[in-house]
Amino acid sequence: MRAGNARTVVYHEFQHYMQYAYDSGCYAFLEPNYLNGTAAGDAEFLEGYADLAKDAVDAAVDLTLFNDIVAVYNPAQSFYDKSYRDVFSKYFSEQLGTQWNTTDPHWHMDAVRRHYEECDARDTLYVLDTLVPALKSSMTEEKLFLDFFAANWAKDWASATTQPELSISMMTPGLLMARSPCIKMSIFPAVRRAGLARAPRMTGLPGISR
Ligand SMILES: [Zn+2]
Repeated sequence: MRAGNARTVVYHEFQHYMQYAYDSGCYAFLEPNYLNGTAAGDAEFLEGYADLAKDAVDAAVDLTLFNDIVAVYNPAQSFYDKSYRDVFSKYFSEQLGTQWNTTDPHWHMDAVRRHYEECDARDTLYVLDTLVPALKSSMTEEKLFLDFFAANWAKDWASATTQPELSISMMTPGLLMARSPCIKMSIFPAVRRAGLARAPRMTGLPGISR
């Protein structure tokens, strides 16, 4: 069990156990809106965070798991239609969490806990509009998606120290770009869903002024 996939399944399922513990309104939303894990439901968060949790317990798994997830990432699908193996959830936690060190597998997982707490407060998982600026005052939901868009292209040469918004940790350089020449398109349905009338200026991209 320790050497096989069973341990990551345990990590994944335990995260669902934790999700169900947020029962001051969040559970009442997330359970009926799962919709069998289909694109119409909320599996992008429930399964996305459960997969992220697989990456957040064991240092050895943390070194390799998202390489495999990126290898099967479908760039033609909106984040809001995803379930398992989404990369945005990892980016969200890395960018907006504040607790623990990069050497800890659970680095910045406090952002996920804050999402569950906001879900309890608003009785819905679709709270990125208020949650993102609450976690980082200079950030908005739309800008975070656009930074994710940029990071998918720039992460291979970005500096994690001076360009953290363009970095995604623990991934083999080249995998995402090699696999996903049009990954940028995958965020636009999500941005539309967020009610963005027009794209804001992109920041942090090499060669593009702020
Ligand atoms: Zn699951």
